[in-house]
Amino acid sequence: PPGLTLVSVPIGTARDITLRALDVLRDADVLAAEDTRSLRKLLDIHGIPLRDRPMVAYHDHNGDRARPRLMQALEQGLSVAYASEAGTPLIADPGYDLALAAREAGYAVTAAPGVSAVVTALSLAGLPTDRFLFAGFLPNATKARREALEALGNVPATLVFYESPKRLDKMLEDAARVLGDGREAVVARELTKKFEEIRRGSLSDLAAHYRATPPKGEIVVLIGAGKREDISEKFVIDALRSELDAGLSVR
Ligand code: SAM
Repeated sequence: PPGLTLVSVPIGTARDITLRALDVLRDADVLAAEDTRSLRKLLDIHGIPLRDRPMVAYHDHNGDRARPRLMQALEQGLSVAYASEAGTPLIADPGYDLALAAREAGYAVTAAPGVSAVVTALSLAGLPTDRFLFAGFLPNATKARREALEALGNVPATLVFYESPKRLDKMLEDAARVLGDGREAVVARELTKKFEEIRRGSLSDLAAHYRATPPKGEIVVLIGAGKREDISEKFVIDALRSELDAGLSVR
């Protein structure tokens, strides 16, 4: 059917793709991909020929240039399938502006849903799943990262973050500092892949583990919801600390 379909692709294991996603990729008039090489590879694995179809690169750095071309295809009544590099488009991935533009111009926008690392991690972590807050990637700079963690600290929900292996130990250290050493957390690494690992512990234990054993691969960090006692204890400690920092003597 004409219109834009947002197609979910695997997060590690090539067969984690739905039958409908494969149908959409097989039938679309125009393919658009964050990473054309990885979509070609996926089509190849599943025996889907490219035929003489255009494959348009659409990512964060060329969206403004590539979007008009895809809008033109939609205007011609063609079907466009968009896939990001992994998992579900728009989830910490490009596609938002494209979907918005297509919808605002009145074209049909639908999804061929599938896997996403956030949901896969939640289902395996063992933390409560009834309420969660997905916060994507935290800022790289320490100060901004701590402020972002501070703002989320009291949210009564499991917190879910994407993180790079290079920054995992720093992120866990900052989280322990801001949210409390003992707060329960889970690191979900290399989901659906050969070296899948789910590691549970307190924020400070996990920080120590990954400082000693630098991780490889793709990572989701989950942090348990704050408990009232933790928060009030932390509040008192922070208040005392800032008094001390202000140079007052406590006796
Ligand atoms: N759109 C994707 C989704 O639906 O999950 C996310 C894309 S985002 C650019 C990539 C990040 O997702 C990685 O840095 C990692 O934090 C997380 N991720 C993706 N695949 C993963 C996997 N197999 N295991 C753990 N985390 C993964």
